[in-house]
Amino acid sequence: MPSPLNIDLHCHSTASDGTLAPEAVVRRAAEQGVKVLALTDHDTVAGLEAAHDAAARLGVELVSGVEISTLWQGRELHVVGLNVDPGSPGLLAGLERNQARRRERAERIAEKLVQAGVPDAPDVLLRAAEGVATRTHFARFLYERGVVSTAQQAFDRYLKRGKRAWVNVDWMPMDEALTLIRAAGGNAVLAHPLAYGMTGVWMRRVLTAFREAGGEGVEVCCGNTGPQRIQTAIGYALRFGLKGSVGSDFHGPENPWIELGRITPLPPTVGPIWSGWPAHLQPPPAG
Ligand code: AMP
Ligand code: MN
Ligand code: MN
Ligand code: MN
Repeated sequence: MPSPLNIDLHCHSTASDGTLAPEAVVRRAAEQGVKVLALTDHDTVAGLEAAHDAAARLGVELVSGVEISTLWQGRELHVVGLNVDPGSPGLLAGLERNQARRRERAERIAEKLVQAGVPDAPDVLLRAAEGVATRTHFARFLYERGVVSTAQQAFDRYLKRGKRAWVNVDWMPMDEALTLIRAAGGNAVLAHPLAYGMTGVWMRRVLTAFREAGGEGVEVCCGNTGPQRIQTAIGYALRFGLKGSVGSDFHGPENPWIELGRITPLPPTVGPIWSGWPAHLQPPPAG
């Protein structure tokens, strides 16, 4: 098992599809020895204020982040914005547009589930009305109602592309997300590059377009990525002139395979995305 790292630039709270409140995420990160943490909820910055308050109390340096669902050439890509100004009007307006897409999708997923004989999902729709509704919320609903025996099974049987409750979403174009992140003073990072199931040819196209549109980094070490995939991602960073980022993609303690700060360190050959950040956001040497 890799040694705990003291920087983690990708995780989720109850502001999107995590199970811990923002304060609890920060507290857990502190307990895990994380010194620099970015909270990167899906299409929202709503958890950042509470996270910043907790971080100030607990001695954690909190980086304002967000993970934006985007489309490029019909493919869904997740773009993490790091060190963004959470009050940026353009960013907030863009995130609200993605949230509206999520609300609309949630209504349609709920309809499809009813058609598939699953009971109504009013609590998930209530959530949708409040803000960020994710497929994870539906997965947990299906699990809690006993329709499936694990949340993963909910994705496999209902929620994945091609399954009964799949609904296509016209997410924000990738270029727009990059523009908004940059206008908010942040650095754009392509999240989990090996999670898209793309061929090498497509990945090269994506990374070229991402770089040309102002993307600055790629996640090299995310979650419990194995050594071979890390090598592939290192190759992406070096070949396409991108900096490296590291993040657990923690969603909650229910998943024992993913823990805050438990990430393979960035190899010295790859420039870190945090290299240009202010001194207080530089991670101290791991010890
Ligand atoms: P959404 O952005 O609403 O489409 O939801 C995507 C979220 O669902 C991701 O951020 C993951 O947390 C989770 N997810 C996506 N695909 C799967 C899968 N195959 N199995 C389990 N969780 C998944
Ligand atoms: Mn998620
Ligand atoms: Mn993601
Ligand atoms: Mn994520």
